[in-house]
Amino acid sequence: MQIAIDGPASAGKSTIAKLIAKRLNFVYCDTGAMYRTVTLLAKDNQIDYGDMSSIVQLMDEHSIKFINKDEGQDVLLDDQNVSDEIRSEEITNNVSQVSAIKEVREKLVDMQRQLASDTDIVMDGRDIGTTVLPNADVKIFLIASVEVRAQRRYKENIERGINTSLKTLEDEIAARDYKDSHREISPLRKADDAIEVDTSNMTIEEVVAKVLEIVQANK
Ligand code: C5P
Repeated sequence: MQIAIDGPASAGKSTIAKLIAKRLNFVYCDTGAMYRTVTLLAKDNQIDYGDMSSIVQLMDEHSIKFINKDEGQDVLLDDQNVSDEIRSEEITNNVSQVSAIKEVREKLVDMQRQLASDTDIVMDGRDIGTTVLPNADVKIFLIASVEVRAQRRYKENIERGINTSLKTLEDEIAARDYKDSHREISPLRKADDAIEVDTSNMTIEEVVAKVLEIVQANK
């Protein structure tokens, strides 16, 4: 069974996808982590985030692996765990430029389809229901207002010892949404057959229950 969870930045996709995968005992795949890791690769090698050919070459020279854990997933870049590093503000604010590169998307979409080919999976991202797994059994499109999403990021940042103003976070989220939904290849878009869930006024438990209800109805 394939469950696709798409939506804009900080709508709660990974939190919900992880919990759903755990409840159903499915593999979880965070595709955003893949684009973030390629962005980290460019940063570590002092490559401009728009330098398509150098980034594609770096992808050929380095290995990106995913290890499934009880609580989600670890990302290894050349066998080094970069799960925390890929969440930095620098990576978050530049990943949309790297993810708009056609060749980067082609390589990562291949990996994602491979991962989904022989196991029950919950995959979250921007284009899972539209492009990566167009025949997914269940497609969810999670949304929330920019204000609520900025609040969530703000709380997460405080827990990680980062103090960024709410206004800055709102601007960053809006900018990333714009870039992700206006790029040429596989822009962020609700698949026609996806079910939209607005999480603005819902608790995590309520969203999980709603998604499980949708999964049950589509089994
Ligand atoms: O989900 P997350 O915020 O970690 O995603 C980081 C970025 O990766 C997104 O803003 C988007 O630019 C890119 N992305 C994508 N397609 C996906 C998943 C993520 O373009 N399937």
